[in-house]
Amino acid sequence: MKEKATIQETSTVPDSFETRTQKWDAEIGSIDKWVGRLQGGGAIAILVGLFPLWFGLSMYEMAPAVVGILVIIAAAALLMQTTRVRKEKIKKLISDIQQTCQEDGFDKAEVVKALFRKPPDQARSEILRAVDLNALARLLSSAAARATSIPGQIPAGYFESQPPESDGLCSDDECPCASTLILRGQGYLYIPPGVVKMRRDARTLNDLRIKLARTTRRDPLASDFRYAALVPRQGVYHPILMCRQGAERRGIDLDVAAKDAAYWWETGFVPLRPTPIVKA
Ligand SMILES: [Zn+2]
Repeated sequence: MKEKATIQETSTVPDSFETRTQKWDAEIGSIDKWVGRLQGGGAIAILVGLFPLWFGLSMYEMAPAVVGILVIIAAAALLMQTTRVRKEKIKKLISDIQQTCQEDGFDKAEVVKALFRKPPDQARSEILRAVDLNALARLLSSAAARATSIPGQIPAGYFESQPPESDGLCSDDECPCASTLILRGQGYLYIPPGVVKMRRDARTLNDLRIKLARTTRRDPLASDFRYAALVPRQGVYHPILMCRQGAERRGIDLDVAAKDAAYWWETGFVPLRPTPIVKA
């Protein structure tokens, strides 16, 4: 009896975890490709229809205008149909995955892990978030953390903020200059009180990512997007590099701001205190 069960298990190879996930993987991968091709065709058809429409209208000719309108209507119908079929395909895959997990005892988190790609395309993220949102969020944050983790220690009283690879620009929204070029090692670093507050419990970039992921857990894609946007969020998560004009307008201590900038360029570390203001 026992032996028979083993034979049965090995003979149902098509239903193994790997085979199933590979099949799903291929199906998910084909959805966006298929949609992209049809949408590309629809967009071209609309452009093609615009020409006789424009010609007909400008020449007061009825026939070409009608042809143009018909082509555009057909293309629009194709696009709408594509969206509808795409939705159905995704819905069907989600329920297939959920049902199989239930019946064959697959762990949903493991399925999400097997189907995860970095970065997930549109259909994939829609499906994976429906299967197990928390598993997807975990994968997204660990993938982002691996991408730019900096080894080593941060000195006490400092936080981490990567300077640009080469030169920088004046990034002060309140500065009237036209994004003055700031050479590597130069400029003035303004550390707003809000950034100090934000980074007090998230001094490394990794900790910052985890903090942001926690606040946006309900939407893992939004947090993934935020990781990508980390560097531009100067003034919220990071200090602001600026030219002398901007620094003077803000009334910050120029000596301190220049020293902070030089240290940041060299090390990527920023003092965990606001830049002193010398004049209002
Ligand atoms: Zn400026």
